[in-house]
Amino acid sequence: MTTTQMQLIPTKSSLQYEREQFRNESNVPHLWALLDEVTDPEIPVLSLWDIGILKDISQQDQSVTVVITPTYSGCPAMDVIREDITAALTKYGIAQVNVELELTPAWTTDWMTNKGREQLRGYGIAPPVDTVDRVLTQDTQVQCPHCGSHATRLVSEFASTACKALFQCNDCSEPFDLFKHI
Ligand SMILES: [Zn+2]
Repeated sequence: MTTTQMQLIPTKSSLQYEREQFRNESNVPHLWALLDEVTDPEIPVLSLWDIGILKDISQQDQSVTVVITPTYSGCPAMDVIREDITAALTKYGIAQVNVELELTPAWTTDWMTNKGREQLRGYGIAPPVDTVDRVLTQDTQVQCPHCGSHATRLVSEFASTACKALFQCNDCSEPFDLFKHI
């Protein structure tokens, strides 16, 4: 890919780009597509791929190995995710499903796809911004997912789960969650 082509996707982080490239090189694209149907239990609009949990899928005969990286340790949804992955592949006719956890490198919100960020916003949750420090110490550049205003304020560092911070919009007065950057 030339530099010129790279500049056509300036909003996509290099980590996102690497993930997509890895997926595109897989020899089991149908299995990746199949798991696009499996969503995060806590944010059901986001697929495991879009939230960045899904790392690798490989197949050997009738055995499929899926590698996932857990999100925040405060979001213990891994058992449900493991069951959902197994169910989706079993339904497809895969005899044996192994779900492996990869803890290093740690999951980061930078792995979240742009599609996932838009879906979060549509769901009423502000997508992660650059650093949580900036969010928590400054007047914030967090955009209200309801009306699009940047005039928002932090209400609580912890919202419904430790993954999220609670904000309120000064313009439309609606409260909303921010998905924290890590
Ligand atoms: Zn608003």
